[in-house]
Amino acid sequence: MATLIWLQTGACSGDTLSLLNADSPSIERLTADGTLDILWHPSLTAGPPGHLGTLIAAVEAGAQPLDLLCVEGSLITGPYGSGMFDSYRGRPKIRIVEALAARARVVVAIGTCAAFGGIPAAPPNPTDCTGLQFDRESPGGLLSPEWRSTAGLPVINLAGCPTHPTTITRALAMLARDQPLELDFLNRPRLFFGAMVHQGCTRNEYHEYDVEETQPGGRGCMYFNLGCQGPSTLATCNSELWNRRSSKTRAGVPCFGCTAPGFPREGDLFRTEKIGAVPVTLPLGVSRAHYVAYKNLAQAAAPLRVKNREMEP
Ligand code: SF4
Repeated sequence: MATLIWLQTGACSGDTLSLLNADSPSIERLTADGTLDILWHPSLTAGPPGHLGTLIAAVEAGAQPLDLLCVEGSLITGPYGSGMFDSYRGRPKIRIVEALAARARVVVAIGTCAAFGGIPAAPPNPTDCTGLQFDRESPGGLLSPEWRSTAGLPVINLAGCPTHPTTITRALAMLARDQPLELDFLNRPRLFFGAMVHQGCTRNEYHEYDVEETQPGGRGCMYFNLGCQGPSTLATCNSELWNRRSSKTRAGVPCFGCTAPGFPREGDLFRTEKIGAVPVTLPLGVSRAHYVAYKNLAQAAAPLRVKNREMEP
């Protein structure tokens, strides 16, 4: 059984809600079957006042082994590097995170805020927020790029705003059982961040033929005008549906690219920035010249049923 402490720093609790929504496996199952021993979670632990302080002291002293340290939320370093904008019993949370991270077998950043800084770290970043081991796209956040847990691993970044429910519970289950997780260049497990949100989107045929919406509410693709980041965002949203039934793009909302270190991007999330008539951000790995040529051909070849957004052929 792997011991787990879940700390919230500069967080909105969205990832905790996501955790509670997971059903495959659920967090209840992982505790009932002996995979996880949750020593502390701010929404799940019923302990006397001071319980968390006692637990932190025991881990720091080496009296309480800690397998998994999960951090939810941006790391607040302000004002002036003191971290006192976010404290527990007079101690900056960033210092508590550093102390527990030094003892943990594995440290997991739950959500884009903990991984990269997220919304609180977006300009103008008034509270001087950063991620655990990245500061937006740059390696090195609260912890240095060279930092490793006692298992020899960097911080495992389960990015998302919030992180997909099953990404959280499956990754925790694998880490608890010492199963290997191959990581990408941003230390996100490839198992959950290996395919585009675009893959599995029900609007794919519209994208293919460049049948694009200019207003919300239609069936067409939202890439050219409505800001969709699906072709450049790695996440399971359209291959593992949320609540087993939907996703942003299925509900008519563009993908905001929330698993990327640059989230939230500057500007209007519902508008596509373009150079001339072509989006600034192209599908991952595609060259601009090829994309323009392909799109012009695709539009000309679009079948009438797709142009008319008809359900049936
Ligand atoms: S709406 Fe977004 S994810 Fe869906 S096909 Fe268009 S670009 Fe891809």
